[in-house]
Amino acid sequence: MKGFHEKTLDEAISLALAHVEPVTETERVLTTQSLGRVLAEDIICPEDVPGFARSAMDGYAVRAHETHGASAEHPRTLKVIGAVEMGQDPRTLPPVGAGEACEIPTGGPMPPGADAVVMLEETERPQHQIVRLFAAVTPGTHVLSGDSDFRRGELVFKAGHKLRAVDIGALLAMGILSVKVYRRVRVGLLSTGSELVEPDHRVRPGQVRQINSHVLQNLLEGAQGLFLGIVPDDREHLRAAVQQAVRASDMVVLSGGSSVGARDWTLDVLQELGEILVHGLQIKPGKPTIFAIIESKPVIGLPGNPVSCVIVFEKFVRPVLARRSGLRVLLPAHRLASAQLTQAVRSAIGREDFVAVRLRVDEAHGALYAEPIPGHSNNISTLARADGIVHVPSDFEAIPEGAQVWVELL
Ligand code: AMP
Ligand code: MG
Repeated sequence: MKGFHEKTLDEAISLALAHVEPVTETERVLTTQSLGRVLAEDIICPEDVPGFARSAMDGYAVRAHETHGASAEHPRTLKVIGAVEMGQDPRTLPPVGAGEACEIPTGGPMPPGADAVVMLEETERPQHQIVRLFAAVTPGTHVLSGDSDFRRGELVFKAGHKLRAVDIGALLAMGILSVKVYRRVRVGLLSTGSELVEPDHRVRPGQVRQINSHVLQNLLEGAQGLFLGIVPDDREHLRAAVQQAVRASDMVVLSGGSSVGARDWTLDVLQELGEILVHGLQIKPGKPTIFAIIESKPVIGLPGNPVSCVIVFEKFVRPVLARRSGLRVLLPAHRLASAQLTQAVRSAIGREDFVAVRLRVDEAHGALYAEPIPGHSNNISTLARADGIVHVPSDFEAIPEGAQVWVELL
């Protein structure tokens, strides 16, 4: 008889990750086009950045010790020898000598001799050639050193880091124009169900537009989705389709037919072709989830209900995909908002629940509220109306109304 052997989400993830290897092939890509790619090399900073000391303020570059004791009552007077221009080569600047100051803009290179900046707000310029300082500074005040951003030889990113927009900025600031990354993981996407038709076909009553593969494709981010179509609830068809998908891709994600009904063939087929490591997760929605290894590749059977499919993708497939992509540290992928629950959400001991919520801002009090959205996991509208998901841990029977919760933004 068919049945589930449920595992907790954490158990299932650990077990799956123990069987997943990163792809080995790498490629070189332009830094400007590396968003979401995973580094296959350590990045060592090739040069000091910015490479010259610069002012952090508009003001006057001075020799700090000469400002000692300066105050509103006892200003120090220095001779202004000139003004630094943005972009000027500091080697061409006149040195600041004893009793001298040089006007400097924010980001301007420090002239030789000067070691601190007095902010404009703490000065007065009674004449073109004279500045009065109303504050004392110490060496380094309002100065960013030549290696204040990155130091030559510094390990900036380790192999296995997934590049974000800010990281692209850091690489370009160091003059690194291309990077070695793991090649994109190819994810084979299959949908199973005799009732499914592609959304660009006419549907008659009884048929359902196939959306899961399209949603999944758009959740893949750095990976490459291989859209492999719809397979009817037929064992032979499914076996052939899975075999072909495994050959064409680095991992396979299929949705539908993962439960224990008479027309659910995913378990039998995956068992026939490889080894089943997980069948059933102690979560809701998403219980009928299968993890198998076929020809050393991860093959994941997701529930067909579109909401379950998305939740299990985020919670279970995402880490597997991350490992396959070469990611070294698996951080939670979601942005969080803290909000107050407007209604209790119920769960069961021993099961983790993921509840769709809509966020509402109370403008008057600046408070954020999370309203649970009622709805069946078959209805994608539940997620389309939601801003995020609230997680109810397995040792909670409920989270009470009014509780402050973390909302994982969709
Ligand atoms: P299953 O997991 O095969 O029992 O499917 C559960 C429900 O999800 C059924 O109502 C299916 O019609 C629906 N479903 C399965 N696959 C998809 C899909 N790719 N797109 C939209 N709905 C689906
Ligand atoms: Mg089905």
